[in-house]
Amino acid sequence: MKLVAKRLDVVEPSPTLAITAKANQLKASGLDVVGFGAGEPDFDTPSHIKEAAKKAMDAGKTKYTPVSGTPSLKEAIIQKFQKENGLKYEKNQIIVGTGGKQVIYNFFLATLNPGDEVIIPAPYWVSYADIVRLAEGTPVIIETNIKNGFKITPQELKSAITKKTKVFIFNSPSNPTGAAYTRKDVEALVSILENEDIITVSDDIYEKIIYDNLEFVNPAMISEKMKEKTFIVNGVSKAYSMTGWRIGYGAGHPEIVKNMDTMQGQSTSNASSISQAAAEAALTGDQKPVADMLKAFDERRKLIVGLLREIPGIECRMPEGAFYAFPYLTDIYKLPGFQKLAQEKQETSKSKLFCDVLLEKYNVACVPGIAFGDDQAIRLSYALGEADIKKGVARIKQMVEDLSK
Ligand SMILES: *Cc1c(COP(=O)(O)O)cnc(C)c1O
Repeated sequence: MKLVAKRLDVVEPSPTLAITAKANQLKASGLDVVGFGAGEPDFDTPSHIKEAAKKAMDAGKTKYTPVSGTPSLKEAIIQKFQKENGLKYEKNQIIVGTGGKQVIYNFFLATLNPGDEVIIPAPYWVSYADIVRLAEGTPVIIETNIKNGFKITPQELKSAITKKTKVFIFNSPSNPTGAAYTRKDVEALVSILENEDIITVSDDIYEKIIYDNLEFVNPAMISEKMKEKTFIVNGVSKAYSMTGWRIGYGAGHPEIVKNMDTMQGQSTSNASSISQAAAEAALTGDQKPVADMLKAFDERRKLIVGLLREIPGIECRMPEGAFYAFPYLTDIYKLPGFQKLAQEKQETSKSKLFCDVLLEKYNVACVPGIAFGDDQAIRLSYALGEADIKKGVARIKQMVEDLSK
């Protein structure tokens, strides 16, 4: 009996989730593991949001809602776009889904035809390429690296565009690099995109996690013409520490939203009614918890980057946003101890080899850069306390010292 559909041939299990699972397994066996793997904030969901969920349950909001979200949550989302981004949307341009991930998934299933090309700057969030392939599209990767600040140029974008290009994915601040595009950077990309028949998907999930008062700018905010061609994805997971509640939303052309609604209506239907009430409270309520989380992340950011930079051979950019450090290990890979390991283990990915040994021998979990399309790097999430950050980076330093021998 054949148990697996061919469609799965093009999909990899999420490596971030795999690392977290392995780290948890080691922890459960009694080991003291430091986990830099997780892609979620470690803070609890603010209490006023939890209260709103309890109230919704008690008020009987426990039934199906419209597939694309409750009218009142959509209204809160419209207000958010108007107030924070200067963008005006109607209700038929908004869709609420089970996490930003499902919104992205439904977007691609609703828009792509076989062979349509989707431009994805690397390093990229692990799910983009897999979702595009599942939807029978072809990912077209534009490489960036630490030297150019992990940002693509308008020229690079232009040369990646072909007759088959359907979508360009823009993610700023970025997971995994933490790099954020400035208004000037975004304007330069828009000068190309405005004149092309391409939809830009702007993944704004890290909008609120941006440091040093850097202005958050997405392509739709640059011009009305660009707004027409942009589909925005956002959600409450990262900003309000609500990953488990599973609420994301999208905004864009009514025709796209209508087809996503059809897709969603034949798969999951509405996102959880209780979570929708909680998300509404998150968007409309007190924003101080967001500021408090940002402050804590900022301190950890400076701590972890400072400590990583003290390790000889490691090169690390100060990220402008999100909660990830993405250090380059290019010089570490040249160390005699590492070369010996590479020969012994027969592992072709250097970042995977480094992370495997780091987890097994030093009990520190990081995600190999190869998962994001960049084998020179590893990703460390700093969504954990300062004591753990210090302990974890000290162990990485120890591993590097051992490899130098
Ligand atoms: C976390 C994340 C998302 C979506 O997360 P959800 O929990 O599904 O809302 C989307 N894009 C990026 C880049 C992310 O890191």
